Amino acid sequence: MAHGFHFFMNPGPTNIPDRVLRAIDRGAIDFNGAEFRTISDECFAGLKRVFKTKETILAYAATGHGAWEAALVNLFSPGDKVLVVESGFFSLNWGMRGEAFGLEVETLANDWRRPADPARLEARLRDDREHRIKAVLVVHCETSTGVVNPIAALRRAIDAARHPALLLVDTISSLACIDFRTDEWGVDVVVAGSQKGLMLPTGMAFTAVSAKALAAAATAKLPRVYWDWKRLLGEGSQAYWNGTAPVHFFYGMREALRMLDEEGLDNVFARHHRLAEATRRAVRAWRRNDGPEIYASEPGAQSNSVTAVLLPEGVDADRVRQTCFDKFNVSLGGGLDRLKGRVFRIGHLGDLNEPMVLGSIAAIEMALELTGVPHGAGGVTAAMEYLAAEA
Ligand code: PLP
Repeated sequence: MAHGFHFFMNPGPTNIPDRVLRAIDRGAIDFNGAEFRTISDECFAGLKRVFKTKETILAYAATGHGAWEAALVNLFSPGDKVLVVESGFFSLNWGMRGEAFGLEVETLANDWRRPADPARLEARLRDDREHRIKAVLVVHCETSTGVVNPIAALRRAIDAARHPALLLVDTISSLACIDFRTDEWGVDVVVAGSQKGLMLPTGMAFTAVSAKALAAAATAKLPRVYWDWKRLLGEGSQAYWNGTAPVHFFYGMREALRMLDEEGLDNVFARHHRLAEATRRAVRAWRRNDGPEIYASEPGAQSNSVTAVLLPEGVDADRVRQTCFDKFNVSLGGGLDRLKGRVFRIGHLGDLNEPMVLGSIAAIEMALELTGVPHGAGGVTAAMEYLAAEA
């Protein structure tokens, strides 16, 4: 029997603020009517501020997988080649979807604990003299590892190689958590979802699309109907939407975007940094006595959305995770793919504050003790000291 709050610390979906839940709690309206148009216009304008783009944003009733697919089917023809910058489970999965659509997918192999190296991308693109590579696919924050890739530097690498490839970036666990600049960084397609930094339920996904990407879509031959950008951009009563618009998502999104505006995006990023750094200080304290460590090995590339915690060899990370859940009502993310049982993941993104993070860290520290995992004491204290100094 669980009492009190459920501490939901998964790296997505995330906590939905009461304000957003209350905004959704109203009846349906005609999605072809003027009232909905006003709400939807406010939402798309707000999204453009969050994506930092003046270009087109298109939305779908789908999870992030839908936006991944929308990007692929709108941009490419069978046999086209794309280059996936490996970062972990999600980068490879995006590539696998390309293969399923008959694309030739090359992977720029990379150690999962480190960010991608722009020099290696530049060298690979310089080698591609015939410009067979149509696009570079990168995950900004790799949610399976907690590593952030340097998108601006990767863009500069493409430019330095004088290569025309499109740059496609997955921001599913970074948008509205970690600074991301679509236009300034020259990103052609940005993929995003509703259920992380945007603090909404799961089920809405987005692509921001540059003029260059729209031009590529005009000649791309993969079949698409629901995802088709041309249909979505068509003028008329359903412009920007295919089918019945999910008006409740828009009610929630308008409120979430207002909350982000009120806090100010820079303050949102600073809060994410503060809570992430507190988490990292705790894990660094646990690291003593050969205890758990932060999986992302380069401090400059450690994510402010999620920290993957690598357990000592021979320790089952899922036991620690299950103990947190069973004994303390704290939910953490598990390890994915080759990291299953090796890491647990602490999501510190979305609608969170200091006591929520401290309470969760305390539960993890107790679970380490209860499961007999070697670790240093004082993780909670280290996090508290940091947060108090930053307050
Ligand atoms: N890409 C990243 C970086 C993710 O974190 C996720 C989900 O966690 C996805 C893609 C897939 O998104 P969805 O689960 O919404 O389909």
